[in-house]
This record gives sequence, C-alpha cells and structure tokens, in this order.
Amino acid sequence: MRYAHGNFEAFVRPLKPEGVEKKAAWIVGGGLGGMAAAAFLIRDAGMAPSMITILEASDENGGALDGAGNAQTGWLIRGGREMEEQFQCLWDLYRSIPSLEMPDGTVLDEFYYLNRLDPSSSPLRAMCGQGQPVPDRHSLTLTGKARREIIALILADEDKLAGKTISDVLSGDFMASNFWLFWRSMFAFETWHSAVEMKRYLARFVHQILGLKDLRTLKFTKYNQQESLSLPLATWLAGQGVVFRHGVRVTNVVVDTLSGKKVATHIDWLENGVVAGVDLTPEELVFVTNGSMVALLQNSACGRDESFDVLFFTGRPA
Ligand SMILES: Cc1cc2nc3c(=O)[nH]c(=O)nc-3n(C[C@H](O)[C@H](O)[C@H](O)COP(=O)(O)OP(=O)(O)OC[C@H]3O[C@@H](n4cnc5c(N)ncnc54)[C@H](O)[C@@H]3O)c2cc1C
Repeated sequence: MRYAHGNFEAFVRPLKPEGVEKKAAWIVGGGLGGMAAAAFLIRDAGMAPSMITILEASDENGGALDGAGNAQTGWLIRGGREMEEQFQCLWDLYRSIPSLEMPDGTVLDEFYYLNRLDPSSSPLRAMCGQGQPVPDRHSLTLTGKARREIIALILADEDKLAGKTISDVLSGDFMASNFWLFWRSMFAFETWHSAVEMKRYLARFVHQILGLKDLRTLKFTKYNQQESLSLPLATWLAGQGVVFRHGVRVTNVVVDTLSGKKVATHIDWLENGVVAGVDLTPEELVFVTNGSMVALLQNSACGRDESFDVLFFTGRPA
C-alpha cells in the first residue's frame, strides 16, 4: 500500500455477514470478474467455497484474459492489459492468491518483484517517417493553449460535456502535441470519442502522465494474463472447492420485483445445447459477470473466431 491512500479501511477484516453459512452463490461468467466475486465471497464474506458455482459458457476460465499456446508453437492472446499500481481491487485480490511459481509467495508478490527487477520502459516510444524517432520525443510538446484546454476539460461539469466529442473541446494545438500521440496510442482514443470519457480518463490516469513518454509507469505480468492471472486464481478457487461448470450458457435470470426488492428466482441455461436450469431459494445469490467487450469464443481460448477484434502474437508463430 506504499502509494495508495485510504488503507484505514482496506486493512480491516470484514465482519462475517449474519447467516452466511446457509447462503449459496451462482456466478454467471468465469472471467476475472466472476472469479474475483467467488474469491471475495470466500475471503471477505466467509462463504463456504463448495456453495459457490461458476457457470461459464466457454470451455475456459478467464474470459477476456484468454490465451493459449506453448513455447514451441507460440501463444495466441486477444489482448494485453496495461497494468499499474493503482489497481486497488485487483491487488487486494491477488495479495490473497498463492503464486504458482513463487514458493510461499502470492501472485501480488510475484508481480511486484518481477516489475521491480525488470521495470517497463520504452526508449523509443513512437516513430515516424519510416523508423525515425518522433521529434521532441522526450517532451509532451503542449502549447499554453493546449494546456489551458486540458485543465478546462478536467474542471468541466459532465453535464456541460454531454454529446460532445474530444475534438469539440480540444483544439488543433492539442491534437498536434506529443501528449495526444502518446495518450491516444496508450488508451486507444480517437478524436470522435466522447469528451466525458476523455475527462474521466484524465482524472483516473493523471499519475500516468509522466510515464507517457516511455511507458515506465506501466507494469506487466510474467506470462500472458491467462497464465499469470487467471490460472492461479482458478487453481486456488478449485482447490478451495468452488464448482466450475463449463459449457453452460445462461439464457435468462428470472427476477421477481413484486416485493419491492429484486429477487432472482430462477436461472435458465443451455448446457451443451440442452435446456436446463435451477429454481432458487432466498438463500441463493446470483452474480452476473458476463463481461461486455469480448464475444463468446466458439471453440477454445485459442480458437480463431470472427469476434476477435485484436490479436497479439507472442513467441514463435505456429
Ligand atoms: C483487447 C483488450 C485490451 C484490454 N486492455 C485493458 C487494459 O489495458 N487495462 C485494463 O485494466 N483492462 C483492459 N481490458 C479490459 C479487461 O480485460 C476486462 O475489463 C476484464 O477482463 C473483464 O472481466 P470480466 O470478468 O468482467 O468479463 P469477461 O472477461 O468478458 O468475462 C465474462 C465471462 O462470461 C462468460 N459469459 C458471457 N455470457 C455468458 C452467459 N450468458 N452464460 C455464461 N457465461 C457467459 C464469457 O464466456 C466470459 O468468460 C482489455 C480488454 C480487451 C479485450
């Protein structure tokens, strides 16, 4: 917690909720969100792991963190996440998950020491003109006007930005800067993206600005994120007794709102094409963590699919 704020509450162990020993949980989606939900239910809510079932439509855990392959043929992964110190929830989770490689260490220990020993940095962050370094690449090249526009955007009320794009609020001066080149290539922004989104990213990632020039504030896992993040978490959960059910695509969660509360009463699913489901009692909780950015894979984590929008190859191509 060296660089974090608010550890007063972070270090307190939660009180066990009343009646948790009678509770069960159904988690829809076996991505990082679903597995994190299971881990927090065990660690922080004191739920018995065997009472937790993860329903996952694909054959794999990890969702968007998918990756598959081997050292001989290379790995195929859909994307790599730029990671950083301020992932409060993620590091809180992984401080409790045993590393698969570091004896007596957690995944957080493994990640921390890896990045201390081998920090990220890019001596040539961007090129132009067929391999030439970008001019003034050690500077953000922001004019006074561009600086004032950024500050105005950070301070603007969101309702005043409704319906506006980035190019509506930041002028050509800003667009010509290295700041914009580095920023947009780090966070995948286009000029026609939402001004509100840009404002929120500026607030969320303000501490990354000094690292824009060489990416030194980013951190990376040792392997692809399926092997470095999903696998240890899934291994720990399964070892605790959490039930993983793959090939189960949830088609509906029936929710009763008559009592003024939202109460899930039934889950419908297709298990390998067969219609099935479960009636729920009031003691059963449902968490839907089915993601939003990545379409379901058809075959396996390494299967080629029309839905792949970004493909990164590492290692030797097959
Ligand atoms: C290319 C790419 C780059 C990214 N870069 C970054 C980054 O730099 N930094 C960062 O912080 N984040 C990044 N992200 C975002 C991050 O990876 C996701 O926010 C996170 O992995 C989402 O986890 P999740 O569990 O919520 O959803 P998902 O990983 O999408 O998992 C959802 C799971 O639910 C399953 N599912 C869906 N529907 C059903 C159903 N009906 N029944 C049963 N199961 C179902 C899916 O098969 C999947 O396994 C990136 C994502 C992508 C794709």
